[in-house]
Amino acid sequence: MIELPATSNPFVAGLACRCPNCGRGRLFEGFLRVAERCEACGFDLRAADSGDGPAVFIILIVGFVACFGMLFTEIAYRPPIWVELSVWPLVGAVLCLALLRPAKGLMLAMQFHNRASEAGGGDVASSEPVAAVLGVQDDLQDHDR
Ligand SMILES: [Zn+2]
Repeated sequence: MIELPATSNPFVAGLACRCPNCGRGRLFEGFLRVAERCEACGFDLRAADSGDGPAVFIILIVGFVACFGMLFTEIAYRPPIWVELSVWPLVGAVLCLALLRPAKGLMLAMQFHNRASEAGGGDVASSEPVAAVLGVQDDLQDHDR
C-alpha cells in the first residue's frame, strides 16, 4: 500500500481512506469495514455509519458514465452488440469498485467534520427546539396579543 503523508484536511483524508481526525491512520480494516479505532491517534470510529449514501452517489455517477459511453460508442462506431454487452458492464463494475472506498471515506469524513448525529455528533431528537434557541418563541407570543 502507498504510504500517504498525514493531512489535516478531513476531506483529503477521507478520499485517501485515512482517519478523518488525524489523516494518518487507516480508516478501513477490510475493503469497506470501518476500523473501530484509528491506529495512529486512537480516535473512536465505531459511530461511523455512512449507510447507503456512497453507493447511491456511485450508482448515479457510474450509471451516467457507462450509459453515456455505451450510447456514444453505439452512435459513433456501431460495434457488434456483444462488444457493448461485454465491455460496459465490466467498465461499470470496475468503476464502482474503484470509487466506492474513497466515496465512503469522504462521506464518513464529512460526517465527522460536520458532527453529524450518525457520527456521534449529538442526538437531534433530544436537542432543544430551534425556536427556543433562537428566541423566536417570545416574538411569536407578542404577535398573538
Ligand atoms: Zn487518527
